[in-house]
Amino acid sequence: MKRVLILGGGFGGIATARRLKQKLANDVDVILVDRRDYFMVGFRKSWALVGESTLEAGQKPLESLSRIGVDVRRATIEATHPQEKSALVDGERIQADALVVALGAELNTSAVPGFDEHAFNVYDANDIPRAAKALSDFQGGRLVIGIFGAPYKCPPAPYEMALMIRDRFKARGVKASIEAFTPQPMSLPVLGQAGCDLIESRLAENGIDFYPNHKATAIEAGEVVFANKRMPFDLLLGVPPHRPPAVVRESGLVGESGWVEVNKRTLETSFADVYAIGDVTQIMLANGKPLPKAGLFAEQMGETVAERIASKFAGEEPVATFKGEGGCYLEVGGGKAMLVQGRFLVEPEPEVSLAEATTGFMDEKRSFETQRLMEWFG
Ligand SMILES: Cc1cc2nc3c(=O)[nH]c(=O)nc-3n(C[C@H](O)[C@H](O)[C@H](O)COP(=O)(O)OP(=O)(O)OC[C@H]3O[C@@H](n4cnc5c(N)ncnc54)[C@H](O)[C@@H]3O)c2cc1C
Repeated sequence: MKRVLILGGGFGGIATARRLKQKLANDVDVILVDRRDYFMVGFRKSWALVGESTLEAGQKPLESLSRIGVDVRRATIEATHPQEKSALVDGERIQADALVVALGAELNTSAVPGFDEHAFNVYDANDIPRAAKALSDFQGGRLVIGIFGAPYKCPPAPYEMALMIRDRFKARGVKASIEAFTPQPMSLPVLGQAGCDLIESRLAENGIDFYPNHKATAIEAGEVVFANKRMPFDLLLGVPPHRPPAVVRESGLVGESGWVEVNKRTLETSFADVYAIGDVTQIMLANGKPLPKAGLFAEQMGETVAERIASKFAGEEPVATFKGEGGCYLEVGGGKAMLVQGRFLVEPEPEVSLAEATTGFMDEKRSFETQRLMEWFG
């Protein structure tokens, strides 16, 4: 029987495993490896940060994928060998007919001196309880939300956090300045100037000072350090620089961009029958900007790869391709969300737009999570 080894059980890995089982049922051995034993959507962190819900309320056990025949292994991937389509998993070498690398992005706090000592890492679920406590204890002063590198996952999320926090502060009567900075020239470069103007005016209306072109070099007690200035803070919520996990960096899969470069339609790497999907990849768009790192795209890439592998195993020419179409929601407080959506791979220019905030988009955002948790985990 043919075997597919999927490294990583996030959006991309789960979508690949499910689609392979839908297509090939018992004719394929699907092994899914992750050191985490649960799945959770990224924006749970924002909800838990502001005390709207808990992380646990959105977690589902990966093990339940075994009911559709996926061999789920909770283990650490120690090495990836793309030339052999194998990986070293808790000391065991697992060989496959096709290898799918879906290991996401690692949060590299050590790239910013002082990050671990002085900032809360709001992209790390493990740090959210501490950050949520600091936020609920916060009685006023200077709150800074800092983006310390790009590309980073879900580009609207830090702005969403700023708006949600402002909403909470208003409800609690907390008087605080909120500042957000990014090394990028505008809030969401992939949106273009008009879309960014909408987001940045929304920040301004809510008294959130926005600082583009701000690349922090270090954090000291109570101050973020930039080349030409310092930004004082009482509470610092940070998005650390991202990079591929070590097991990918050391595999020979990473290209000049620092990420795994793949064929943007087929998700093939330079190694035969080895695919990479999701946040671990870098796909450049026609306008020279990278495809945003989003769960939605990781999921679509996983489905594409599964279709292609199934066709190949059946001796057919694969036809499925990644389209890069869809959107994600930017919560603005008050029970509303904006929608950033687009056809990202079209040429000569991606078509990306921002729709103004409605309660309907907020409902869609909630069902983005509930639908997946129900369909994937029962
Ligand atoms: C605050 C926030 C809000 C977000 N909101 C949205 C949103 O609204 N919409 C959206 O589409 N996306 C959103 N995202 C982004 C989304 O979460 C990611 O883009 C998505 O998770 C990427 O999927 P992936 O499969 O590539 O990687 P991941 O989901 O990160 O999965 C990678 C898996 O690999 C495992 N792994 C890594 N290394 C090893 C190893 N050595 N051994 C074993 N296992 C390993 C990890 O445990 C992990 O489970 C958000 C992210 C954040 C942080």
